[in-house]
Amino acid sequence: MDKEFNVSGFSSLAVHGGHKQDPMYAHQVPIYASSTYVYDTAEQGMRRFSGDEEGYIYSRWGNPTMTEAADKIAVLETFGVKNKNGSVLEVKGILHASGMAAISTLMVATLKPGVKILTHFSLYGGTDELVQKILPGLNITAEIVDLRDLNKAEGIMKSGGIKMLYLETPANPTIQCVDIEELSKIAKRHNIIVACDNTFATPYLQQPFRYDVDFVVHSTTKFLNGHGTAIGGILLGRDLQLMKTHITKVHRLLGGNGNPFDAFLLIQGIKTLELRMDRHCHNAMAVATFLEKHAAVSKVNYTGLTSHPDHDVALKQMKHPGGMLSFELKKDLQGGIDFMNRLKMCVRTVSLGTCDTLLSHPASMSHAGIPKEQRIKYGISDGLIRMNVGIENVQDIISDLEQALN
Ligand code: PLP
Repeated sequence: MDKEFNVSGFSSLAVHGGHKQDPMYAHQVPIYASSTYVYDTAEQGMRRFSGDEEGYIYSRWGNPTMTEAADKIAVLETFGVKNKNGSVLEVKGILHASGMAAISTLMVATLKPGVKILTHFSLYGGTDELVQKILPGLNITAEIVDLRDLNKAEGIMKSGGIKMLYLETPANPTIQCVDIEELSKIAKRHNIIVACDNTFATPYLQQPFRYDVDFVVHSTTKFLNGHGTAIGGILLGRDLQLMKTHITKVHRLLGGNGNPFDAFLLIQGIKTLELRMDRHCHNAMAVATFLEKHAAVSKVNYTGLTSHPDHDVALKQMKHPGGMLSFELKKDLQGGIDFMNRLKMCVRTVSLGTCDTLLSHPASMSHAGIPKEQRIKYGISDGLIRMNVGIENVQDIISDLEQALN
């Protein structure tokens, strides 16, 4: 899209943002399936390596299809977000092979032995393991608390030693939300880097850069791709110089680069992000309302419901409450398994963000290896069901749940 053309709607940027006219005039960005790039002359090769001339060198370092995907997400994360001087915020995104690769680059590039991360107790399992099992081996440890308690969060940040505040909101799998604005303000008072995993919300529903956050990460595998066709991740940062130098170097050396085919799928998926998210959210609200009234369900965790403790925080920082919810069956572990087995249209699987409705039973699947007492402490009871509410006809989703519940 012509840089001079200012669009006034998110969907226009989702369709056109990040696009560069292909030199062969292809309408869609081609899949640049090439590991390396040629130089007209040896001198040109020298200029590319020295950085005097822009251009691709090797696809672990960068690739045109991957650049388009990264630039598209970057403009969506900053759509309407202003710097303190009123100019439009610009961030740089680097595409990764997975959400975990993006998070790993972030941690390795910004943390040093002896420092600590402060984070919320409900986190995606992979991030939780990275923080609790891998980073301590590098002498990077974590304080894991309930970040909805702002006084407690401030007390820890004041006490020193915290280098990074790491947020994930809404959180996987409990759908808890933490207050990005308030936590970021506290962190900035104490010179702490703030990073936010925006996977569940996407930039259509929530833009953490509005609240002075330094880095945003995504598993693009989920709603951004939207069709469950590719694993991917992105790390975005507001310090352009840092992103172009140190973070780029760490990304290139760790080797967690994305690939052009998955980037192509991601670009196609993002074009319909607004349409899909609106439908996911509309359907999720209807499903949550249905479940809340059902006799077999003891609790529904959906931030769109006024009964959810994080309803106000979600409303404050999200356009709509999202397409993810979880609910607790009154039954035990076997009751959860039986419910899952009775589903007909809805799909039994992990992951999220796809057009079809997906359900998982953490106690028998993703979290089966965690001792029950610890699981319960994390809010994952025997009867907890996590649900990605898809974009099908909502009555069909509700009818399938109803027959499986009864
Ligand atoms: N962050 C969140 C919130 C997730 O839900 C996931 C995966 O489920 C990840 C990060 C990791 O992403 P990936 O599986 O693409 O590595």
